[in-house]
Amino acid sequence: MTRTLAIANQKGGVAKTTTTASVGAALADKDVSVLVVDLDPQGSLTFSLGHDPDQLTKSVHDVLIGAEDIADVLLDTEDNVTLLPATIDLAGAEALLLMRPGREYALKRALAEVSQDYDVVIIDCPPSLGVLTLNGLTAADQVVVPLQCETLAHRGVGQLLRTVTEVQQITNPDLEMVGAVATLFDARTTHSRDVLSDVTDRYSIPVLAPPIPRTVRFAEASASGASVMRGRKNKGATAYRELADNLWESWNGAAIKTYELEVV
Ligand code: ADP
Ligand code: MG
Repeated sequence: MTRTLAIANQKGGVAKTTTTASVGAALADKDVSVLVVDLDPQGSLTFSLGHDPDQLTKSVHDVLIGAEDIADVLLDTEDNVTLLPATIDLAGAEALLLMRPGREYALKRALAEVSQDYDVVIIDCPPSLGVLTLNGLTAADQVVVPLQCETLAHRGVGQLLRTVTEVQQITNPDLEMVGAVATLFDARTTHSRDVLSDVTDRYSIPVLAPPIPRTVRFAEASASGASVMRGRKNKGATAYRELADNLWESWNGAAIKTYELEVV
């Protein structure tokens, strides 16, 4: 059975793309077959997996509007995950899709043609709650919310959770909210933990284990177009491997491990 996971938060810069690429690469290292989907017109996931969006002639955009078969658009990557790439064309998909009946189901329908080839599909949602994110949430079995542990991290979380509830009511009754992933986490200060406990108190969503620490290697990796998981060891990569194991074991019947905040 294929597991389809959406990584969503309408806030930019919270590490959705980094989480998609890193969890995908970590699972691929365990010989899990992984498809990652770039749903952001900026194409950051596509770029970080070694493909220049400006050089591509076909992308997820053509798939969503029905102009290309998904199988003809998929790309291999050096991280051993398969990529459904995005280009800036996707910025126009929003408007084109809005005119169509069943617009929330375009990605789900396309994925159905290839998902039997993959154990896991991970969808990198764009920083908005528009029709592209609705497509991601409609196609997914589960959703994970990266939360950057800074002041005001909670802003927008309520709105995102309402969108998830609406998707559950309308297009995808089986969608499961797995929880938040704490990103850019700084264990040396109490601030990150205060922000997290504030969010979990307000919205009662679990925080998955482990938190992902802020690591300089991540910024370097996305700048060079190379995945952070490749090459040398660092604490960010180690944390993402643990998170990937946690998710993988939960898909194989274990209870998901959560990060317990110490009560101070
Ligand atoms: P989003 O997809 O939510 O917009 P990104 O994954 O693109 O977020 O991350 C935003 C920026 O933060 C990128 O420059 C990325 O390299 C950086 N980043 C992500 N995770 C970490 C981390 N754990 N440590 C340091 N920088 C990070
Ligand atoms: Mg992104």
